[in-house]
Amino acid sequence: MLEPMAPGVYRLRLPMRFHPGHVNSYLIESPGGWVVVDCGNHSRATRDAWRAFLESEQVGPGICAIFLTHAHPDHYGSAPWLARQTGAPVIMAEQEWDAVNRLWRGSVDQESQLRDFYRRWGATDADLDNVVLFMHGFRSGCPALEQAPRLLAPEVDQLPELPGWQLLAGFGHTPCNLMPFRPADGVLVTGDQVLPAIVPNLSLWFGSDADPVGSYLDTLARLRPAPVTLALPAHGEPFDLFSARCDAIVSVHHKRLQRLRDALADGGMDMPALAKAVLGKVPEGPLFMLIAGQLYALVRYLENRAELVRSENGRVALASAPDQCS
Ligand SMILES: [Zn+2]
Repeated sequence: MLEPMAPGVYRLRLPMRFHPGHVNSYLIESPGGWVVVDCGNHSRATRDAWRAFLESEQVGPGICAIFLTHAHPDHYGSAPWLARQTGAPVIMAEQEWDAVNRLWRGSVDQESQLRDFYRRWGATDADLDNVVLFMHGFRSGCPALEQAPRLLAPEVDQLPELPGWQLLAGFGHTPCNLMPFRPADGVLVTGDQVLPAIVPNLSLWFGSDADPVGSYLDTLARLRPAPVTLALPAHGEPFDLFSARCDAIVSVHHKRLQRLRDALADGGMDMPALAKAVLGKVPEGPLFMLIAGQLYALVRYLENRAELVRSENGRVALASAPDQCS
């Protein structure tokens, strides 16, 4: 049930079948009732957890708004059901609603373009089948909303339901991760932008961010000095030392970029060998996209900065040795 995290802010830990086994929803007291921040997966176990809350005394005046930091299935999945149960509006960034429709639900409607995109990065036919299966999972994990959500334009940084809070925007992990921040005491609900024990996945996805690693590093450079005293992440435990955690995550990405440069120092490589050298594993199986996408994002970062060249079959070489890319 609800666990107090900060004045007026509570956590409801929700189950997840996959790593890391849970996702945190936060409930913030507001004049109209609870503002729910993130909803958990579209699953019976998650709905059971919400039902237990809705039937408990803790529900008080009820849920007045459902705010999503972003629309990945473990944040958005139960939002349609919870909205139906409570009548509360679902609120998210415009970019995330676009992602729900065009990418998380829509990619499988463009299957041939989806396959072409990954084929150009060197994926095999078996990999492509795994990509399509994975995106079918995303589609079923993001059911349709019955009522249109309330969408936040990029310049919006406040919610009327949350007086005293600002919304900070983060990029790279997802098109727009919005983070409620309370300047009076430095409480920040991070979504997946900054996590205490996991390096957030920065993947190049079909149809999404042209440079996830660059967007992410720019965001953390901007967020790092924020006067955060308590960060409430979507996965893991609350943490302080926010700027130190930003630095640690940034350092992981710089190390990966350097491993990529080092791996190519002796000549061009294909994606599986490069993934093994940089991430320590070859992308394959049902999670192909989550591993390969991270490598593509690192390659794209260096490609955009003219350090790399990539051929149409996914082979990569340092730009200083383009003859090794054929
Ligand atoms: Zn996420």
